[in-house]
Amino acid sequence: MKKRMKKKKILKIVLPICFTLCIVLIIFLGIKIFTKEPQKTFLEKLEPTNYGEITNYAIYGIHMNIEGKFTLQDGESNPLLVLSNGDVEIEVPWIITKEEDTYSFKTSDYINEGINLESLPVETLYLVLKTESKDEKEQIISKYYSFENHSIYDNLEYYTLTKNNQNNLIKMEWNTYEECPTWRFKIENTKLPNDVYDITIDPGHDGTDPGKVVCVRENNVYDPDLYGNCYNGGTEIEEREVNLNVSLALKEKLESLGYKVTLTRMDNESRVEIYDPMGSATMANDTKSKFNFAIHHNSSGVNGGFSYLKGLELYIANDTNLDFANIIVEEIITKANTQASLKEQYKIANGIYQRFFTQQEVDNDDYPGTKSTKLIYYYYIREVGGVSTHAINNGYSSYPANAHYNSNNTAEPYLFELGYMDNLSDINNIKNNPQNYAEAISSALQKYLAQE
Ligand SMILES: [Zn+2]
Repeated sequence: MKKRMKKKKILKIVLPICFTLCIVLIIFLGIKIFTKEPQKTFLEKLEPTNYGEITNYAIYGIHMNIEGKFTLQDGESNPLLVLSNGDVEIEVPWIITKEEDTYSFKTSDYINEGINLESLPVETLYLVLKTESKDEKEQIISKYYSFENHSIYDNLEYYTLTKNNQNNLIKMEWNTYEECPTWRFKIENTKLPNDVYDITIDPGHDGTDPGKVVCVRENNVYDPDLYGNCYNGGTEIEEREVNLNVSLALKEKLESLGYKVTLTRMDNESRVEIYDPMGSATMANDTKSKFNFAIHHNSSGVNGGFSYLKGLELYIANDTNLDFANIIVEEIITKANTQASLKEQYKIANGIYQRFFTQQEVDNDDYPGTKSTKLIYYYYIREVGGVSTHAINNGYSSYPANAHYNSNNTAEPYLFELGYMDNLSDINNIKNNPQNYAEAISSALQKYLAQE
């Protein structure tokens, strides 16, 4: 009798719990069925066989470049690369080549071209191959094939540049749907986390290294004496100081446009390491910035300090589309009332320079076998761009390793030599009008983004 009572009591407790759980489960399943994501029906459309292969991909600045290959089934034609969820479909331009039955593709020959990640809508999209074929009634039908990841890389994340105080987070994730591989681009509205920035500015040199130092007096510019002093009443000007002045003015301009900006140094005393965390080669990627602007001023190295050379030299990375570089040069020439440098060495276009290691520099290197004439000389470019710019510092030298040297998700770097410290008209312009240079660079960025 006692036992039965106990059983009844237990049932009294257990039954309502079971009942509630059942109701919750039914409601949950109901919600699942009725709010079935539109993507799910798109995923059901994916052909379960004949996957294409993604062999390589990299985010560089605001662009993503993708390489891969695929074959077509009998009767299929007009292959397209699309980001799609069935409702929204974006065609991705590509360069395609065919060898026997295999098609190979890449989204661009340039590292700073490809999918413009700033332009993607807030949607969940899948990167797929779309083909055309005819059904039994001779009607043209589209088929969708997904890609399998054959690269050495995994999932990526990208925060868009701040616009109206808003950002998108793009999660590029490899998944499977019923054994079919999928590459999902999940784009959601968000705010930048505290440690993520839009743009990094690196004012060249630091508390331990003034860069080029010149003396200016009336209508003359000259080098300091052997002890580093100006004579004849000249005023000493250090490169680190003018670099910082332009950088601070640029930070202010960019912030007034709504961007979140960080600097590798905020004063002329701090030390900036190259490869330590938040160093001049690492900060842009430590902060997931989209651009790295290294601000420097040139010198001709002519003894006595008088330079016939003057004007702007913008140093860029390998395999770079010049769209942004051209706008920067135009804007600086106009807004800062200066000119493109007439220096011919390393020049590839008006005001634009690309400096690779020379054979002699490769031969005389302290670490034989690490460099080649296909590598960019300046670390502010080569090491910032990760795999896209063939960064090499994996810790082979006396420097610590670049934490991002093998990263396929990096900032797009530019090195500005805004003018010559040892040219009188340049140094006067640089000293008196840093805000003009800053205005020019920030307006170049706006123009470039508007046309992309
Ligand atoms: Zn410098």
